[in-house]
Amino acid sequence: MSETKHVYRFGKDASGNDVTEVAGNTVDEAKYVVGGKGANLAEMAKIGLPVPPGFSITCQTCVAYSSAGNVWPEGVLDEIDEARKDLEERMGKKLGDAEDPLLVSVRSGAPFSMPGMMDTVLNLGLNDVSVHGLIAQTENPRFGWDSYRRFIQMFSNVVMGVDSDLFENAITSLKLKKGVKNDTDLTAEDLEKLVAEFKDIFAKNVDVKEHPEVVVDGRAVFPSDPYLQLRLAEQAVFGSWMNERAILYRKQNKIPDDLGTAVNVQVMVFGNKGDTSATGVAFTRNPADGTNERYGDFLVNAQGEDVVAGIRNTEPIADLRKIPALEEAGNELYHIFEVLEDHYRDMMDIEFTIEQGKLWMLQTRVGKRTALSALKVAIDMEREGRISKEEAVQRVNPEQLDQLLHPQLDPNADLEVLATGLNASPGAAVGEVVFSSDDAVKFAEDNRPCILVRWETNPDDLKGMVAAEGILTSHGGKTSHAAVIARGMGAPCVCGVEALKIDATKKEARVSGTDVVLHEGDVISIDGTTGRVILGSVALVRPELTGDLETILEWADEIRLDPSRGAVMGVRANADNPADAQLSRDFGAEGIGLCRTEHMFLGERKQIIQSFILAESDGIKERALGKLLDAQKGDFLSMFEAMDGKTVIVRLLDPPLHEFLDNPRDLAVELAHLEDKGAAKSEIAEKRDLLRRIDSMTEANPMLGLRGCRLGIVYPELTDMQVRAIASAAAELKSRGLDPKPEIMVPLVSTANELAMLREQILKGVQEVADKYGMELNIPVGTMIELPRAALEADEIGQYADFFSFGTNDLTQTTFGFSRDDVESAFIPMYLRKKILATNPFETLDDGVNKLIKIALQGGRTANPKIVCGVCGETGGDPDSIHTYYDDGVDYVSCSPYRVPIARLTAAQAKIAANGGAISRDK
Ligand code: ADP
Ligand code: MG
Ligand code: MG
Repeated sequence: MSETKHVYRFGKDASGNDVTEVAGNTVDEAKYVVGGKGANLAEMAKIGLPVPPGFSITCQTCVAYSSAGNVWPEGVLDEIDEARKDLEERMGKKLGDAEDPLLVSVRSGAPFSMPGMMDTVLNLGLNDVSVHGLIAQTENPRFGWDSYRRFIQMFSNVVMGVDSDLFENAITSLKLKKGVKNDTDLTAEDLEKLVAEFKDIFAKNVDVKEHPEVVVDGRAVFPSDPYLQLRLAEQAVFGSWMNERAILYRKQNKIPDDLGTAVNVQVMVFGNKGDTSATGVAFTRNPADGTNERYGDFLVNAQGEDVVAGIRNTEPIADLRKIPALEEAGNELYHIFEVLEDHYRDMMDIEFTIEQGKLWMLQTRVGKRTALSALKVAIDMEREGRISKEEAVQRVNPEQLDQLLHPQLDPNADLEVLATGLNASPGAAVGEVVFSSDDAVKFAEDNRPCILVRWETNPDDLKGMVAAEGILTSHGGKTSHAAVIARGMGAPCVCGVEALKIDATKKEARVSGTDVVLHEGDVISIDGTTGRVILGSVALVRPELTGDLETILEWADEIRLDPSRGAVMGVRANADNPADAQLSRDFGAEGIGLCRTEHMFLGERKQIIQSFILAESDGIKERALGKLLDAQKGDFLSMFEAMDGKTVIVRLLDPPLHEFLDNPRDLAVELAHLEDKGAAKSEIAEKRDLLRRIDSMTEANPMLGLRGCRLGIVYPELTDMQVRAIASAAAELKSRGLDPKPEIMVPLVSTANELAMLREQILKGVQEVADKYGMELNIPVGTMIELPRAALEADEIGQYADFFSFGTNDLTQTTFGFSRDDVESAFIPMYLRKKILATNPFETLDDGVNKLIKIALQGGRTANPKIVCGVCGETGGDPDSIHTYYDDGVDYVSCSPYRVPIARLTAAQAKIAANGGAISRDK
């Protein structure tokens, strides 16, 4: 037997002493061993909360089992058997016993919660003998047979893969035959008959080749041996780690595939033993908006998943204590809410069951929440003295902030509400109605934004929920599947819209109280913040940085900008026009890290630059340059004014020239048309000449061709023009009393000589303008580091640079030799699927590229100790990359305006992490 422990027990022994074995020093540590559910069950047991006893089999066992091709590692089955015997002793009951049987649930539980993604089997241990023991103990035959038929149904579905509908259909036909409406109208005798029928369904539908363990005389037989039931269920939970929807969920949530899941075997408690029993789910605060109130739903006389499945209409948790039979248990639950918040110092989500007036805690975890709620809870908890400002800043997931920077319904829009439901996940969405997840995926593939409209969603709907802009359901409460998943994804969701009568097969939904019938393709708008549903499309607006978001960002800046707490990393924005510059300022950018001048050459200005490039006489060239100078100077005047007092790094012209020219293929087609039409000879000759000149400039690999600083060297007059535009815009603003701070950046340098030469030319140009205006102009000159050679030669290049800016898009492209314009659709998705790449290197900084960055940082700082080094590529706004940049010692990151708040928060978190405060990112 190996030394590693595979099984940990939790809960009390026969004499009421807690015998919980913890699997780590903290819950966070333990969850990697016994999963989140197991770790928190153990934690609750340890702090004295009522937890049904049980044991957890570790995630590591799952990984070993899976990688051995679904074979149990040596000795583990014995260890589990001991734990099972121990549990039987602790309970004074035995699995399968004829007098008083022990029943257990077999529950999955990964290190990160994956709600509803994997499977659970309840009531395990029942067979034809023990069912009579259960009946004898409870004196309730109906309950006994109902538990048994539920077990057969769940076991067959979860463990044996038999379609659940077969069982549901059998129930429905029995009800029809008897002329009754509800499951509760079925008698003990009816249910006993169903048990026999269910076993028959099992026999007919279990694949005998796949499940030889249950084959007797060539026929599948429902296993009566509880130990076999247990082992098969454990294997099924381990197997469910690799089922399709679990894999998709992990991909969606960036959870690694190699963590495995634990199996928790736990004594059953029953919420379906009549009116003194109940089951429910709850949050200690409002997960949608963060209000400090208890939030959740419960059902009287119900078991397990009934609450989330939206089968019966649930009651709000606040009403629990109003039911006399449940008042005492309700009071205890409300007390436990406080105990949990005090202990975990966070908003918790729980599952509970009341069995004949006795409260049992079945699960707790840190509650998933919307960005709005995350902000409010973090700030409130700081103010309540539960957590520090640092912790509050760490509690907000930067990626989630994106939700708040996402569209809301325009408050000034004139709109008519079609129906209302529960405001389950905030934000607004507009799209065409679809009634199935497959259709949502199809619409998304055609770039048609859609709203997924369902009765209620289930785990198979995940792909559709990902594809849709928003989710709308007619059933289910705020803790229904749709609500929980939508909040996790940050997708707007309105649920429980009772007026909606959906017929998914016909692909239509009637709205009661109106004569509206929604069909597939009809456009609707939903508002998950208020629960409104609107016919047609409503304008969406971006919200501003106010309230809680502003507070958290202020706290983040306090930490980020305080030099006594570690290195200060700045946040700038990439912006090319005054509107974007203003927006980045509003979002807190400390400057512009990248102003791309080629974006100023679009539209009608394309003609001007074209005539420059293609000019065959000096006169034409000069005229074109003159026009460009005026246009550029105008742009810079407004840019520098919007960013008054703040750095604006202007990059000289960068893209391959062909981007400014007409496409030669289109031109050839046009020429053919002109000839066909018999157009004027002169016109044809002119076009042909144009085509000849464009052809002569065509490059086989433009990305590796005449671009970046090479352009400015081949066409020095372009460089002169741009420098003059920048410097004279600055000079004019200065003479108006403003404080413009432009810097000039040379792109795509690969050798120090290129930069040395251009630097001299630029400084000379600036000096000429300064002389002309009779003032001093101090405009720093620096370069992009975006080619591997430049990174390796940074100690040479740094001699001529006041600053470096890492252009990680090109640097990634040239380090990998991946064309970023092609590979993202060609093979990167496959590389990610096959795990050749862990992440897309164009989104998250790659380790290899980072090595070059570190070499360049060191080289640049050796050559010029005062050099300022930043990042302006896409990865500058990516949270994972920002952590790396902080650790690298980069001076600032620059990203798109909308990511500036995300970068400010992440930079503060990176600093806290570097100071030893572990970031707990809620997955
Ligand atoms: P999930 O991870 O999908 O939430 P769970 O393991 O929590 O799955 O099981 C689903 C539900 O089954 C629980 O919410 C609870 O209502 C019920 N359940 C699980 N174990 C027990 C138990 N030992 N006694 C009573 N109900 C249980
Ligand atoms: Mg659960
Ligand atoms: Mg570049």
